[in-house]
Amino acid sequence: MRYYIDPFGCAKNQVDAEVMMSFLNKAGWASARNPESADIIIVNSCGFIESAKRESIGAVLAWKKNYPEKKILLAGCLARRYAKELSLSLPEADGLFGGEDPAGIVEAAGKAAEGIKTEGAAFVRQAGGAAAPDAGLRPLLSLPGSAYVKISEGCNNRCSFCAIPLIRGGLKSRAVSDVLEECRELLARGLRELCFIGQDLGSYGRDSGGAAAPERAGTAAAAPDAGLPGLLEALSALDGDFWVRLLYIHPDQFPLPILDIMERDKRLLPYFDIPFQHASEKILGAMNRRGTAETYLRLLELIRGRLPDAVIRSTFLLGFPGETEEDFSALLDFQEKARLDWLGCFTYSREEDTPAYSMKGRISKKIAAERKRIVENRQIPITGKQMERFIGQTLDVLVEEAVDAEEGLYLGRLYCHAPEVDGAAVIRYGSGGSAEPGSFVKGRVLARTGFDLQVVPG
Ligand code: SF4
Repeated sequence: MRYYIDPFGCAKNQVDAEVMMSFLNKAGWASARNPESADIIIVNSCGFIESAKRESIGAVLAWKKNYPEKKILLAGCLARRYAKELSLSLPEADGLFGGEDPAGIVEAAGKAAEGIKTEGAAFVRQAGGAAAPDAGLRPLLSLPGSAYVKISEGCNNRCSFCAIPLIRGGLKSRAVSDVLEECRELLARGLRELCFIGQDLGSYGRDSGGAAAPERAGTAAAAPDAGLPGLLEALSALDGDFWVRLLYIHPDQFPLPILDIMERDKRLLPYFDIPFQHASEKILGAMNRRGTAETYLRLLELIRGRLPDAVIRSTFLLGFPGETEEDFSALLDFQEKARLDWLGCFTYSREEDTPAYSMKGRISKKIAAERKRIVENRQIPITGKQMERFIGQTLDVLVEEAVDAEEGLYLGRLYCHAPEVDGAAVIRYGSGGSAEPGSFVKGRVLARTGFDLQVVPG
């Protein structure tokens, strides 16, 4: 039997898709290169916000319309969150797989292929949540040379707008030894960049009394007592030429000792994705966040003081209930002062069962969208200026793809570019020059074009 997977959504979803693929492959399924040759199409959905839900359902409808003879299995967050409702209202899906225990994909896919409808099933949550140690070698859907490593699953923060803890449950950190084992294996496969992901990396290990999760019986203890700093210390002991990139650290949980470790080991990139979400104290409080514009600016100052090369990405949430013009101005003021390198903006999505759902002062979609547009427009010159500081520097570039191999034109990323979300490095070797996708080369930054940096071999 052959499956085709539509990985859909965020990096965390991508890793879930990779883990499902490894279980299917181990059970004898084959991954189809295209949907035509597949028996079943698996849509790995996202159910976090309204637009993602709509897109996930749209994907199921589109696949069914284009391939009416194929079985469609809806997997992932949306299937988990709305198993009952979708089994009634989405007949285009031939099965639902909530996926708390990823090994269950084999049974769910088998049933869907046989035409037996499943409802998402109450799969038992797997200890250590993010890990799938029995899945075998994980196929990678990531860009050349790069892999995501999920170090924790779920979240114990309770941001009032967020449905993720409802969908993914509380924080479950993987043991340091598990993460290290996976990193070693990925590096042995030639990967150059390991992007650590989780809902909030700053909370890593806090689900076991402030320490990282217990080691598995029979494995050597590796820095078990110190959360994310302990994990980075352990990682820093590995040999090799690689990057570690940390994605998503809640600003109220930022573990400052990681700055010391990054200062010592340049392979741990000074790239920080810190979703501030807002800067008005009133709105942050209503979001169940403890920070203020002042504490967040101090955090940025501290990071940049310790690591002058630091690159900061963030996200802002516009149109949260009760957001007045004054709150919006506070956010604009923060944006100006924060000088973020990269910024993603979202509008508030009203999610059932979250505390914000019933909050008063709802903002119209039109106003929220207009505020988002204003913030995005203001960010363009800020990001442009921030990128110009790299001009003249010679840096490692992780090559991603040949745009025109004959002309020696390649795309890659510098440490300031996280995969898929930031700009790119455009590398010009000229005819006769070449580079291998997935490898490091040295490049000198000559100029900025839009958000991209123009690079020549350095
Ligand atoms: S930290 Fe992130 S995942 Fe956790 S509740 Fe807040 S927004 Fe949701």
